[in-house]
Parts: sequence; structure tokens; C-alpha cells
Amino acid sequence: MDKESKEIYGKDETEDLYFEPELILKPQNTLQVSKILSYCNKENIAVTPRGAGTGLSGGALPVYGGICLSMENFNAILDIDEENFQATAEPGVITQVFQESLEKKGLFYPPDPASKGSCFLGGNIAENSGGPKAVKYGVVQDYILNLEVVLASGEIIWTGANVLKNATGYNLTQLMIGSEGTLGVVTKIVFRLIPKPTRDLLMLVPFRKLEDACKAVKAIFQKNVTPSGLELMEKDAINYAVEFLDESPFPIDQNMEAQLLIEVDGNDENTLHKECETIMDALNPFECGDILYADNNQQKESLWKLRRSVGEAVKAQSIYKEEDTVVPRAHLAELIIAVKEIGLKFGFRSVCYGHAGDGNLHINILKDDLSEEAWNNEVKKGIIAIFEKVKALKGTISGEHGIGLVQKEFLPIIFQEKQLALMRGIKTLFDPNHILNPGKIWPD
Ligand SMILES: Cc1cc2nc3c(=O)[nH]c(=O)nc-3n(C[C@H](O)[C@H](O)[C@H](O)COP(=O)(O)OP(=O)(O)OC[C@H]3O[C@@H](n4cnc5c(N)ncnc54)[C@H](O)[C@@H]3O)c2cc1C
Repeated sequence: MDKESKEIYGKDETEDLYFEPELILKPQNTLQVSKILSYCNKENIAVTPRGAGTGLSGGALPVYGGICLSMENFNAILDIDEENFQATAEPGVITQVFQESLEKKGLFYPPDPASKGSCFLGGNIAENSGGPKAVKYGVVQDYILNLEVVLASGEIIWTGANVLKNATGYNLTQLMIGSEGTLGVVTKIVFRLIPKPTRDLLMLVPFRKLEDACKAVKAIFQKNVTPSGLELMEKDAINYAVEFLDESPFPIDQNMEAQLLIEVDGNDENTLHKECETIMDALNPFECGDILYADNNQQKESLWKLRRSVGEAVKAQSIYKEEDTVVPRAHLAELIIAVKEIGLKFGFRSVCYGHAGDGNLHINILKDDLSEEAWNNEVKKGIIAIFEKVKALKGTISGEHGIGLVQKEFLPIIFQEKQLALMRGIKTLFDPNHILNPGKIWPD
């Protein structure tokens, strides 16, 4: 195996981490996956399943070497069943490719991580991914009916049935979703789909105060409107994205601390305009700047492109740690105030953005010119303080990026030993020799 391949498959999008696989395998079908796992199970060889490597918690990093099991050749959409609003696909299909194939038939699979142009369906399942549309339509777990999975032993199972209701035994499908490649390798996926809404309206609302942008999120929902996207970007996030893209779809007022990108969708234009008016009512109490309404598809796309590029733009500024906190949305303002106070106390700068409508805040802690000592010790104390605040607000430490490698040491903040023991027990039942993605999720 050449050095260049090892370098590609030894990384994902998490910080600057690198773990070299000993061997990269790219199976073509389920039987090959089965044979690989059966052999590795007998020989006690670590196997790390890999999708597109866009993960932000180090899930696809082969921390114990062994085999990188790349699912990139599983890239077929097998069936689009228009009568039942279902589709079957392999896990190596790029999420956006899948969505666009469905849209041609008026069908909709809403989960749309900002990485949708490169991430795979299988990676999305393993992380239970979300994205901007989750606020109205839910996350991956809400659209999966059935999975073909190869277990660590090499045995092949289907986890459920291709039905909308299922009260038949334990829900193995949902257990597999979000299990980060530690319980089995997904080789086929049956999706539930919905009709694609035909219209949407998009606006960008600047707020003089970051805290107010967070408070406005709660206010919008209290008016009984459910936007199909409600994204927060603080000032630095937008400025970095503009710099990264080298284009600005709108003039940025530097007096504004944050912006909310708000989308409503449906099938009736008048209803959508009324919803926008209701949202404006909800925003009245807050000090907002000039609101930008996207007039056409090109403007809409450039606003979404700006939002989607924030992660990469922040990464281009500095090494960073991304915390994927989530709290009940009415506590978002409290969380963001605490994050900034904790940053001051422990000496770090953070850039915050995320899926505000879900209470899901991505806190990017920048290394800037911090010493290694401060980066490894003081920042860690700050992260613990943030996670304790999240727990006090009845939230949790990952909304959509998973625990993987980088968050596992913080899991005891959220779970008691009994819960961890139950999860470890499930892992051992599925994978007695712990060959599947070892070194992930549980603290060492
Ligand atoms: C710029 C950017 C923006 C992002 N925006 C979002 C966002 O809005 N929402 C969001 O939720 N996430 C987001 N992410 C995170 C990331 O894209 C998602 O977690 C995505 O689901 C990972 O998919 P992947 O194919 O890249 O998986 P990988 O990173 O390759 O792997 C992720 C995990 O899945 C496991 N895995 C992969 N394939 C399989 C399989 N077939 N069977 C079993 N396990 C498997 C791996 O072992 C690993 O644990 C973003 C990332 C980037 C870089």
C-alpha cells in the first residue's frame, strides 16, 4: 500500500489527528465484507469501517492500526419504490447524490449534513447525522426502516422490516443507527421517504447581540411556526466563511454580533409568506439589522453555501476542537453566555454556529497561538466546564457528530457507570472480541 493512500485513510476531518492503517480494503459486496470480518474475528485483527472520512469525532480513524474497511465501492442506489415511498441504497452513496436522485421523482430524504456533497449514507447512519432540515424533519434515525448488517462474526442479518410500523421485538435498526461502526458494518439501507415540498423562502436576519439571536429562536417557535431551517452564525463564523469563499452574497454589518438563517418550506406560497410575517412579529422585541430576503434560487444557494462552508472556513483559520453540544432550545442563550464566560476564564477563543432550531450549538475552540500546555490542559478544563453546563441545562455533549475518539473521555460527565456498563455489555454481545472500531465511544 502506498504512503499517499495511507495518509488519506489515516485521517478524517477531526482536528489534525492521524493514525495509519496497516491495510486498506475496499470490498465490492456483502459477501466480501462477511469474509473479511469472519477472518479478522478469528485472528483478532482490528477493523475500522470507513465512509467518506468527513467525520468530526475521529470515528473512522484506525487508532489500533489493523484494517481500514473502506465502503466506497458500495455506491449503488438499488431501488426507488415510488409506490411505497421507500428506497434501498448501499452505504457508500454520497448523501447529495441520493437526495438528487429522489428529487427527480418528487421524493424527499431530508437529512442534509453540511457535508452532504461528500459524506456517505453509511457514515450518516453510523453517526445518526442531522443537518439544517432536522429542525422540521428530524434526523437520520427518523428515515431508516431496515438495514443489512454484517456482524463481527461475519454473519449477515437484516435488522427490521420494510414497514412504517414495527412493534416486533427489540429495535435492532435503531440500535445500529448512531453506533459508530462498533456493532456491525452496514451494507444495505432501506429508507422511508416523504413528498418533496415544492416551495421555500429564505431570509438572513442580523442581530446586534449574539444572545438575542439565541433568544429569538425560542420566540419563533412560540408563535407556532416550525421553520425548515434555523441556523445560527456568529460574526466571526460569517466573516471566516466570506474570506474562505472569497465572495460575499451580501454586505456584512460588522456591528452585528450574529445572524440567523431562517427557511420555511411547504407547497403554498401564501402560507409561507404568512409564516414569514409571523416570524417577523416574533423578532420585534430584538434589535435586528436589515433583513435580507433571498429573491431567487441563486441567492438562496449562495446563502446556504455560505452556511455550509463555515466548518471548513474555521478550520482554515486555526487548528480547532469542535464541540457538538445540544440543549433544549429555550436554553440556547444561557449556553452561549456560559461558553463565552468559560472561554474568558480558561483563555481561549471560540467561534459558535450551528443548528439553533434544534438547540444544537457547534462550539469551535481555536488553538490560535495557544501553547501546547494551554491547548492540552487549560482548554480541556474549559471543555469540561462547558459540558457540565450542558448537562445542567439537561442537554448532552453530541447532537450529531458522535463520540468517536475525541469525546470518549468526556462520556462519564453525561452517563453514570450503570449506563456505560449496559452499553459495554451490548458491544460485547455484538462483538465479543472487540475487533470492530476498537478505541471508540467508551473511555479507556
Ligand atoms: C464541513 C463539514 C460539515 C459537516 N456538517 C455536518 C452536519 O451539518 N450535520 C452532521 O450531522 N454532521 C456534519 N458533519 C460531520 C460528518 O460529515 C458526518 O458525521 C457524516 O455522517 C460522516 O459520514 P462519512 O461518510 O464521512 O463517515 P466517516 O467519517 O468515514 O465515518 C464516520 C463513522 O461511521 C462509521 N461507518 C462508516 N461507514 C459505515 C458502515 N457502512 N457501517 C458501519 N459503520 C460505518 C465509521 O466507522 C465511523 O465511526 C460535517 C463534517 C464536515 C467536514
